[in-house]
Amino acid sequence: MTAGTLYVVATPIGNLGDFSPRAIDTLRRVDAICCEDTRHSRPLLAQHGIERPLLALHEHNEAQLAATLVERLLGGQSLALISDAGTPLVSDPGFRLVRATRDAGVRVSPLPGACAAIAALSVAGIASDRFVFEGFLPAKPAARRARLLELASESRTLVLYESAHRIVEMLADARAVLGDERHAAIARELTKVFETVLDGSLASLYARVEADPDQRRGEFVVIVAGVGDAAEAKLAQGRRLYTQLSEHLPPSQAAKLAAELSGAPRKALYGAEDRGQRTEDRG
Ligand code: SAM
Repeated sequence: MTAGTLYVVATPIGNLGDFSPRAIDTLRRVDAICCEDTRHSRPLLAQHGIERPLLALHEHNEAQLAATLVERLLGGQSLALISDAGTPLVSDPGFRLVRATRDAGVRVSPLPGACAAIAALSVAGIASDRFVFEGFLPAKPAARRARLLELASESRTLVLYESAHRIVEMLADARAVLGDERHAAIARELTKVFETVLDGSLASLYARVEADPDQRRGEFVVIVAGVGDAAEAKLAQGRRLYTQLSEHLPPSQAAKLAAELSGAPRKALYGAEDRGQRTEDRG
């Protein structure tokens, strides 16, 4: 018996017009559709006349369900994988199923479409020739700052996802760790009624979002320019060293040593410490 195919299908991130005709046609023909939440996907699919059996596949049951789904594919069925919105596997479930399907030698075929990261990058006006997708930063402040510190010297553009309830804290931490002047963009509610794309320094974006509750609603992609010239790279390195050293040394000594090792001005490192402290006080 010929094995079936697993189709990995992108769905809209807002505007329903972004559902491709080929995606709709494929979803109408498969034996079953794997989705994160059947209650969420059923109405979207029904609107397009797609009435195939739905299977819930999410991070808690994916590893277990993958084996059964691979059996069905090997038995000749074709399946589709969708997520709540956008492209499956991009900060969404599906990796384990795709891996297991490929390990079984079964064809996996993409039906590309909307992806918030790529949509944001296409309108941010920040270098897009080399970029790093980091998805969601850790939710806990200390872990989030540690991740930002790891990324501080990255010269490629950073692409981050964020939710409404953490956008202000995340921007505050990005300012403190990457510096007030770093160029960034916030793409909010892309393809939806309140679509907004702002760009400017991290300090100006933070001020804008903090001051206006409307700018804190919805879904966000944050695009941050990579570290630019040599002076900015030194500063990023100095901040990283300062943060690590200040866990073991008094702040003045940590700043002096970090400045010597990185070549960054000592004052700039103290400044970063003050801003970080104020951020944590607020949270
Ligand atoms: N798989 C999806 C994709 O291809 O973009 C991403 C899923 S992830 C669970 C959801 C996050 O994507 C949101 O918290 C937000 O950061 C981003 N996102 C999704 N839709 C968006 C939109 N319309 N505008 C801005 N960001 C969006």
